Amino acid sequence: MQIIFKTSLTPQQYFEQNSQKQVKPPENCPNCGRAHTLEALAYYERYATSVLAVLLIWVRRFLCRRCRVSVSCLPDFAQPYRAVNSATIAAGFSGQTQSREESRAVHHWGTAIAGYWRRYQRHLPALLCIVGNAFGALPLQPTAREFWNVLLARCGDLASATRQLVQRFHTCLFGTYRCHQRRPLRAA
Ligand SMILES: [Zn+2]
Repeated sequence: MQIIFKTSLTPQQYFEQNSQKQVKPPENCPNCGRAHTLEALAYYERYATSVLAVLLIWVRRFLCRRCRVSVSCLPDFAQPYRAVNSATIAAGFSGQTQSREESRAVHHWGTAIAGYWRRYQRHLPALLCIVGNAFGALPLQPTAREFWNVLLARCGDLASATRQLVQRFHTCLFGTYRCHQRRPLRAA
């Protein structure tokens, strides 16, 4: 499984500080719910953008001693299966940039961000079935833009929205993935 954890680090800081080594195991296994059962397993590599650069970052994995499911802990500046970082995606989606650097990043990754938006639009009907009005009142058939605005108004940013989508609803903006679903528990 995969969980997304809150971090104040930028992708660059996480990369330079090797912060994957400091990631603590979640208190409870997201699969079986038991406490203090996760032990260090390994790391895997994935891409994450930092302004115009692409970094290869390490992601911490743990293994649950009880249900034997592995749990990876993705920092929330990253999106599941998407290389462009959460803040750059959000700035692109909203059409608002906070700095010159951010505006350069949105321009640089524009093609990828436009693809992400189409992916989000395709997932929207399924997403709405899953979350309903959990993030606030919606029109009867909200557009991608309307749901995006409601989600951001409620959660503050895409990192927080994604943490909630994954943790509470086992989905994210771009699809519902196997890594966010619980596995059937084997008989002990
Ligand atoms: Zn478990």
